[in-house]
Amino acid sequence: MIANGGTVMRESIDNNLFDSLVNRNYDWVIEMETATGKLKFLYSNDKMSDSGIDAENISTYEELIKVFRDYYVVNYEKEAYDKYTDLENVYAMLENENCYIRTVHINVGDGVRTEYIRISRVDDERFLICLINITMFLDHDWMTDEYSRAGFISKAEEMMKDPKYSSGYSLVYTNVKGFKAINDFLGTYSGDMIIFMLRDILLRELKPDLLARLESDHFVMITKTELLTPELFERICPQTYIDGSKRLPFAIRFGIYNIKNPNRTIQHMLDRAKLAEKSIGKEHVESFAVCDDKLSTEYSTRRKLISEVDAALANKEFKTFYQPVVDAKTGEIVSAEALVRWIHPERGMVSPIQFVPAFEEEGHISKIDNFMVGNVIDFNKKRIEQGKRVVPCAVNLSRVDFYDTKLLDETILRLDERSDMGDLIKFEITESAYAVLEEDAYLFLVEMKAMGISLLLDDFGSGMSSLSTIGTFAFDVIKLDKGFISQIGVSEKAEAIIKHTIGLSHDIGAKVVAEGVETEEQLAFLREADCDMIQGYYFYKPMSEEEFEKIL
Ligand code: C2E
Ligand code: MG
Ligand code: MG
Repeated sequence: MIANGGTVMRESIDNNLFDSLVNRNYDWVIEMETATGKLKFLYSNDKMSDSGIDAENISTYEELIKVFRDYYVVNYEKEAYDKYTDLENVYAMLENENCYIRTVHINVGDGVRTEYIRISRVDDERFLICLINITMFLDHDWMTDEYSRAGFISKAEEMMKDPKYSSGYSLVYTNVKGFKAINDFLGTYSGDMIIFMLRDILLRELKPDLLARLESDHFVMITKTELLTPELFERICPQTYIDGSKRLPFAIRFGIYNIKNPNRTIQHMLDRAKLAEKSIGKEHVESFAVCDDKLSTEYSTRRKLISEVDAALANKEFKTFYQPVVDAKTGEIVSAEALVRWIHPERGMVSPIQFVPAFEEEGHISKIDNFMVGNVIDFNKKRIEQGKRVVPCAVNLSRVDFYDTKLLDETILRLDERSDMGDLIKFEITESAYAVLEEDAYLFLVEMKAMGISLLLDDFGSGMSSLSTIGTFAFDVIKLDKGFISQIGVSEKAEAIIKHTIGLSHDIGAKVVAEGVETEEQLAFLREADCDMIQGYYFYKPMSEEEFEKIL
């Protein structure tokens, strides 16, 4: 009936409802007669009976308040407690409000617990006095009744002190592939049902010692490593959600961290289990991955790099490199792409592939992109002032930049100062970033376009390409991905697609840059296919500002 064990006296409330209300969270539910101050215990948690707070020993409000104070309330709160539980004061408060709530911290066997004292008016004759353990709310997930993130971490920390967990146990993290689609297509009710399904599967199949829902479709648990077999995952990973005539398949993926050293923080273990799950990649051929040493080292490197961003910016460790883009027919430099490089004092030159994705996740990329925009503008400004030749330079925008209008605002400000600079800066946005832009972010692009800034669609043809992308926004330039270019001379199909993409782009008024051109053969094909511009090692590699100045 009641999880913690408790004494219930009630007449009219539906049993199940009452149990679910008091289950776990309520320590007492007591009714008080206004006229006499007499109490009636509707529910009292048995755990509280040590203190003598029960129907046999306590009959008035004053007694209740005093015994509770002396037995439970932490010393530093006793004075405040006396004031706000004073009956005069309670009456005064309830003049204006129907319900009066105060937080109180109490001493219990295993530490201090946070509770709510809630006094509410039932009618003119009665008040209801409840004591609610809100530590439980903080520790538990309201939806599944399993632990929440906070509850998991504190509970797991406690568990790790038990020598039994020093070997043979793992921390497992879950992710439902396609969960967002299910929420979008079938609505949140179905999404919720999947969360319940998932919880039941995890409890049944992984028999966790501890289970929590972190958020959304992400559960985390501590369970015996020997249970985590490939056969198990193969069996439980593919699932189908059925709602009437609708059937939606989804897949559960698991990231596993084998606990070798229980002294590590729980966050450390969780980060690595998540990392393992992420490493499975989009193709999801595997349903689970275990965090190994390589992943772990990569992760530590990433964390280290992330922690160093601000200092590195201040120390001017980031540099802007330029890769010239040439006219396909003449070979003349017509523009350039600005590419960030991190000249790290210990690691040497760090490639953006190593830090850009990590910075995107942590929200640092906009600082870098903002810095790049500033550098590109300053570079061209300086050259104009010196009366030297200038070409437009393109800065890469990350998906994240669209959620922080600071970058756009600052760019507008910078360009307002120099109206002649507008033509000299361009922005590149990758096809995959463009595909997931939301309405507001899209308007950001429209605004830039209205300012006369050229926009390039980067990496076109990589991943989930769709020709319709070209049609949905008036990009000035389409950049064919180097993955495509490398297929020249290898795949006739790819060659046909390149030719047609160039034709199509021209039809809608966009120019085409081929990226990653490395060979004579590729160049010849692209010229033949009427490609406008070429970027690639065949002509130039990315170079420092000084080198770029020499060839411009
Ligand atoms: P991207 O924007 O597609 O840049 C082109 C990448 O291809 C550059 O790599 C460039 O060095 C490389 N590349 C150019 N020609 C060739 C070639 O002929 N062969 C080969 N194998 N590679 C070639 P890089 O500089 O390592 O940059 C990688 C990616 O990192 C960029 O891809 C871009 O998505 C991102 N990135 C670079 N700088 C920035 C930045 O300042 N901000 C943001 N948000 N992303 C940046
Ligand atoms: Mg680019
Ligand atoms: Mg590119």
